[in-house]
Amino acid sequence: MTDTSKNLSQIIRERMKADKKRFWAGDNISDYVDDNVKPELIDEATKAFEQVLDALLIDRETDPNSKGTARRLAKMYYNEIMSGRYDPAPDATAFPNDSQDRYEGMLVVRSELRSMCSHHHQPVTGVAYIGIIAAEKLIGLSKYTRIAQWCARRGTLQEELANDIAREIERATGAKDLGVYIQAVHGCCENRGIMAHSSLTQTTVLKGAFKDDTGTKKEFFDNIKMQQEFAPR
Ligand SMILES: [Zn+2]
Repeated sequence: MTDTSKNLSQIIRERMKADKKRFWAGDNISDYVDDNVKPELIDEATKAFEQVLDALLIDRETDPNSKGTARRLAKMYYNEIMSGRYDPAPDATAFPNDSQDRYEGMLVVRSELRSMCSHHHQPVTGVAYIGIIAAEKLIGLSKYTRIAQWCARRGTLQEELANDIAREIERATGAKDLGVYIQAVHGCCENRGIMAHSSLTQTTVLKGAFKDDTGTKKEFFDNIKMQQEFAPR
């Protein structure tokens, strides 16, 4: 029987705690939130954002621009900027790469990223370069970006994001030799605090040959440089 004195979010949080399921800003909790419960959670978040606007002394009753803002914020969090918390992993069908003419080279994919820092909920905008030495299976090229964006659309830190993307690419492709390089600008450095408008943060995760073999590591960063000449940011 459902306890009607509790909000749905409270019921779900209690369920996760009982299961010892971590629900930090950067964690995926799609096992607990599906499309059936999302509308009710968005209604609940809308009411909470209304309280925030009230506390900020913004007139959401007569200001036409602020009337629907609480709902817009709630939908934006659930469906867009934090969707990677609530959506299951993108379907990345793997194709075998074990025939005689299997591809053995390095593959480097450049993925545009939109993320949000979990400290300040400010935008993080940048690009990830994902490199692998193909293993026994390959995934479609667009899947690298889908996986990277699924990891990015949460509240996260750039260091954590690089680790998350590396782990999920390893899971999807089975590749043990891989590298992830991210460069991004952070709203929390540009809009507040230090107000450093052109600051750029770089993070790198290297595994297997990317870490241990100087030639592989050099090839990865040479490929990144070539990509940057082709599509500079
Ligand atoms: Zn921040």
